[in-house]
Amino acid sequence: MVVVDGHYFPHVTPPKVSRIIEKTREGLDRIDLATDRRVFPLEVRCPHCNHSLMDADRKLDGHPAVHITVSFGRKHGWIRLSSLYGSYTMASEHEIPLDTVVHCYCPHCHAELGAASTCAACGASMVPLIVRGGGIVQICSRRGCKAHMLDVS
Ligand SMILES: [Zn+2]
Ligand SMILES: [Zn+2]
Repeated sequence: MVVVDGHYFPHVTPPKVSRIIEKTREGLDRIDLATDRRVFPLEVRCPHCNHSLMDADRKLDGHPAVHITVSFGRKHGWIRLSSLYGSYTMASEHEIPLDTVVHCYCPHCHAELGAASTCAACGASMVPLIVRGGGIVQICSRRGCKAHMLDVS
């Protein structure tokens, strides 16, 4: 078995190793989006004003992006996140350095999103969003931290 970046490849024979290295260069996360059935789109709302945070005009990974406002340091701007649970594709108005903890706001009511719980992996605050159909998804506010928690009730 070979493990690369948290991806498991069972029953690997020596000739397959070079294929895995090739795939890794192409980006394992990208390949997963097409094949991994754990990756599925979520529609989310602001927990304060209940307004949808989906931006149908701007797509990431082929689905409407999640649009929120962030601030860090003296910068303030928009961020768009992939709505595919399990994808870390994002776009932002300002380049956010890795490990930066951002404050997140609803672009509609401007309430701050978060501070209800902290990330088990890094201790930053988790940002809770209401999932259409029931439940809450929480995403870590630290850039680069891959802690997501989905609690579907
Ligand atoms: Zn709101
Ligand atoms: Zn974290």
